[in-house]
Parts: sequence; structure tokens; C-alpha cells
Amino acid sequence: MKLILLGAPGAGKGTQAEILAQKLGVPSISTGNILRAAVKNGTPVGLLAKSFMDAGALVPDDVTIGVFKERMEDPDCRNGYILDGMPRTLPQARALDENGIEIDCALSIEISDQEIIDRMGGRRFCPECGATYHIVSAPPKEEGVCDRCGKPLEIRRDDEPETVKNRLKVYHAETEPLLGHYAERKKLLTVDNQPTIEATTRVICETLGIK
Ligand code: AMP
Repeated sequence: MKLILLGAPGAGKGTQAEILAQKLGVPSISTGNILRAAVKNGTPVGLLAKSFMDAGALVPDDVTIGVFKERMEDPDCRNGYILDGMPRTLPQARALDENGIEIDCALSIEISDQEIIDRMGGRRFCPECGATYHIVSAPPKEEGVCDRCGKPLEIRRDDEPETVKNRLKVYHAETEPLLGHYAERKKLLTVDNQPTIEATTRVICETLGIK
């Protein structure tokens, strides 16, 4: 399965990507996680990306495409992948095509801006391993602590309300046109966001025809 997950920031792409990756035995590749790790490690890419990410803006295409291509060379990508947050612009989608990175389909999780704004306030993130939680819909076993590595959870800078509004603006301007790009290629599937993570996973699996 070579799948792209599309949807506004906060639509649940990361959560669904991890669930699907486990089900299908393929890696889930999040450019957001790769870039956050670069920021944390203070690499040249991280230093460049940080100000864009903090402002809720997109990191320049050449930088994102560079780190993404590097990740795609890892052997675990040979049998498939779930792409979470990549591509996010038309030039990135074209870069995938030009670099022979194939996809079976692009699946968009549809959700209103207001729902996104309402739900963002509850998001938590593990700065150590990148795992994501939500205080209502996907809480960790112990409040404020990562299930995987036991580190204290944090609120991402880019989940602050003003940043969320900017990210939605960027999504509509830069990323939404990808729906047309994949529809033209007969690769677009859409699902409506559901009230729970499990229900959304169910409609995604039904739409993709997987158990
Ligand atoms: P995410 O975790 O996918 O919401 O990404 C967090 C932030 O990382 C975004 O708001 C962007 O600043 C940056 N980012 C992640 N993926 C991309 C991408 N494909 N293109 C440009 N910027 C990205």
C-alpha cells in the first residue's frame, strides 16, 4: 500500500497514519516529525525550518523535498508507505512524480475549520518520540505522560490558536489544490471525519477495502 493522507492540519492524519501503518506493516512517514526532530537536534535543516514551523507557515519546498527523499531511501519503504503531511504543495506533488515515488491513492479526511479549531486545544505531543495524543479522544494512559517513552507531554507551538488559524489559511491556499491534482489522476478518495478515531479508521478501511 502506497498511500498519501491529505486533510487540514488537525484532521487526524498523524493518528490515522500510525494506525494504518501498524495494520498494513508499512512505515508511516511524517515530514512534520522529521522536521521537528531536525529542530530538536539543531541540524542546519532544523535551524532553517524552525521559524516557519513556529509561525504555522510551510517550510520551503526544496528543504522539505530534500529530507523526504532521504527518508524514502531507507529500506523499510520498499514495500509501501503511508505519507502523512507530504506532499503539501503542488511542486511537492510534482517532485514525487518526478522522483518515481509512486502512490496507489491519496485519501483526504474531510473536516470543517471550526471542528479543527475546537479540537486543536486538546492536542498533546511527545517531544521525545513524536507520539501524538488528545486529552479527550486519545488520552495517554497516565495524564500528561507519553505511553511509549514516559516523557512529559507538551503542546506544540504550532497548535496555539493564532497559529492554527494561519495554518488553516495556508492549507486552503497551498494544500487544497492537491485534491484536484489527484482527482485528475483518478487517485483521490475522500472520507468524512467521524466523531471518534475508531469510527474514522473504520470508514478509511472500508473506503480502501482493507480489513
Ligand atoms: P505536521 O506535523 O504535519 O502538522 O507539520 C508541522 C509543520 O511542519 C507544518 O506546519 C509545516 O511548517 C512543516 N511541514 C511539515 N510537512 C511539510 C511539508 N510537506 N511542506 C512544508 N512544510 C511542512
